[in-house]
Amino acid sequence: MTETTDVTDLGSMRPAEDAPRPESPVAPASATWSAPVPVGDGPLATPLPVAIVGSLSPSRASDFKTCPLLYRFRTIDRLPETPTRAATRGTVVHSVLEQLYDLPAADRTVEAAQATVQPAWQQLLEANPELSQLFDADAEGVELAGWLESARDLVANYFALEDPRRLEPSAREQLVEVVLDGLRLRGYVDRIDESADGELRVIDYKTGSIPREAFEAKALFQMKFYALVLWRTRGVVPRQLRLMYLADSDTLSYQPDAEELVRFEKTIQAIWQAIARATLIGDFRPSPSRLCDWCSHQALCPAKGGTPPPFPTEALAKVGDDRRLAEPVVEPEV
Ligand code: SF4
Repeated sequence: MTETTDVTDLGSMRPAEDAPRPESPVAPASATWSAPVPVGDGPLATPLPVAIVGSLSPSRASDFKTCPLLYRFRTIDRLPETPTRAATRGTVVHSVLEQLYDLPAADRTVEAAQATVQPAWQQLLEANPELSQLFDADAEGVELAGWLESARDLVANYFALEDPRRLEPSAREQLVEVVLDGLRLRGYVDRIDESADGELRVIDYKTGSIPREAFEAKALFQMKFYALVLWRTRGVVPRQLRLMYLADSDTLSYQPDAEELVRFEKTIQAIWQAIARATLIGDFRPSPSRLCDWCSHQALCPAKGGTPPPFPTEALAKVGDDRRLAEPVVEPEV
């Protein structure tokens, strides 16, 4: 399903998020209220707010699908994770591509973008001093120099995919969120393009390689999540979802439709239902896979001979009111 579509395929564009972003598995005690529902049928009908029972992002939903225990460690226990050079480089490259569009269109050259790699790394380091440990053993700075150069290479690869001088994104690093049946769906979209007639294209930059065909559905999960939120908030099904893989200068594009997003919404609700049930009984099982090699929590994982910390009881108390726990379990489809 790969394609390298020219940027002009969405018509003329008009002006108008791998560090994990934290989220709550369940609403905090002081839950906000939204999506008022009118009660009664007269003009004086009183809006009844809908309680938010939980919050889910594509990353955390994917964690649960990949390994329920990983979800627990990240979202409920909120255990710190060891930074990696690959993920940090991804954050730097995302920052560079976001800032690129601050420049006047004519100045968006590969040289200009590459020149911001070092400052973007410095900015990230100042905000997160613990990242200095990535190069603790690199007294001469040789590895750091190579790492920065590899980030510049990824930035250059971006220019092989599209010409930023011909684009004016509608939004960058955009928080999108919606509350559906009490479940808040939220996430950060790397970029949204909007055509003159209101059609949307959702862009996500990946610093890794394009997945094999068997793994395309998994890669598109995040994009369908964003498409669902945008559809539910703007009433427009994005015309195109595009993943840009900078390591090998390739793209994966997909055109969703409303029927599919309705099914996807049910899948998301089913995932949340499974999370809420696991929380209620404090049972998040490990699901070992080759991804364990990159997991920061192997020492606490029973599949690796470890013992998890006691389950936080406050998490359990917060899902008790979710009425969906009384409904039949529907297994996630994706
Ligand atoms: S080591 Fe593997 S099985 Fe254990 S929590 Fe991490 S990803 Fe899950």
